[in-house]
Amino acid sequence: MRQEMLPYGRQWIDDDDIAAVVETLRSSWITQGPAIERFERDVAEYVGARYAVAFANGTAALHGACFAAGIGKGDEVITTPITFLASSNCVLYCGGKPVFADINPLTYNLDPDAVVKQITKKTKVIIPVDFSGQPAEMDRFHMIAKDYGLILIEDAAHSLGAEYGGRKTGTLADMTMFSFHPVKHITTAEGGIIVTDNAEYAEKLRLFRSHGVTRNPGWMTQSDGPWYYEMHALGFNYRITDLQAALGSSQLKKLDRFVKRRREIAAAYTEAFRHMEELQVPYQHPNANSSWHLYVLRWRNSKYTGGRDKAFERLRAMNIGVNVHYIPIYRHPYYRSIGFTDINCPHAEQYYEEALSLPIFPAMTDEDVDYVIRSVSKIVEDNRIST
Ligand SMILES: *Cc1c(COP(=O)(O)O)cnc(C)c1O
Repeated sequence: MRQEMLPYGRQWIDDDDIAAVVETLRSSWITQGPAIERFERDVAEYVGARYAVAFANGTAALHGACFAAGIGKGDEVITTPITFLASSNCVLYCGGKPVFADINPLTYNLDPDAVVKQITKKTKVIIPVDFSGQPAEMDRFHMIAKDYGLILIEDAAHSLGAEYGGRKTGTLADMTMFSFHPVKHITTAEGGIIVTDNAEYAEKLRLFRSHGVTRNPGWMTQSDGPWYYEMHALGFNYRITDLQAALGSSQLKKLDRFVKRRREIAAAYTEAFRHMEELQVPYQHPNANSSWHLYVLRWRNSKYTGGRDKAFERLRAMNIGVNVHYIPIYRHPYYRSIGFTDINCPHAEQYYEEALSLPIFPAMTDEDVDYVIRSVSKIVEDNRIST
């Protein structure tokens, strides 16, 4: 039995990262200096996008993307219910209306066919989420967006370093968001970024993250002198700091190693569990190469008395920090209070009954992985013996 709880995810910080932050602390800039531009360039280059605009966190970045896409009162935005709250809260921040479409029961990603059924004259944007690190079916979403004149904002908080059809996430949508929260692939403590190939979106994102203020001469309506700036929109202070950006650039150098280790752990889990009929291992879409933010095991409740809930309890008692990602968003009291009461997403509901996220992060040792595998196997076996 482990002494300490094994979390489901955790950052990896080493001496290089610490040195990068300390160096920035000793420089003249601790916020809005050169490290932010460098980090933006580094991320844009890594994914292969033209522009990158960093934010204080991923949620602020999504808010910025919704602003740049022009979401306002009455606009509808289709997204998945199986995601973190920020994926749809960002729509509400702009006065828009999130519309939930069901997930694909194999990939747990937003189902393109379900999305088409929800499109109305008011639909403006689709927010596919690359759930667990597996990119959504972006080729289908492109065709849908083209047919209906919609904008695609990809919530890629889980999928930095993943690929779809051989292309990295960050090049698959009009705007793509990455998060640098400590459980994500690389961290800046708090932080997020939007990458895009669209210069106008990039300009609007920069405006939005800094009070809606522009100093770009091409955007000004007039000029009173060299000090002059103008506020063009009700922006926010959503800036990241140089300290965080320096950490981000240092972390990015290790990203490929981190992803490789996540893929190894996922492969070990899948190999161990794929023959157990009580369990459903994650399905991988042939076009997708996941970067494995999460490893979700489904406990087929009909085949296992006690099901996921019992497994959750027992694994936690064994000091394994399992989790459930996610509670369908429309089930939250706030969403219910604003009218999300009759949502029909049966695949999301079924998924929510059965899903359990196992620990997966690059600092996990082989012994950690083995302990998880043995513990899960024991729970499955104990049940077999008792029935
Ligand atoms: C983490 C996450 C976010 C928000 O990122 P923060 O940086 O924590 O604000 C948004 N969407 C999804 C799916 C996430 O997992």
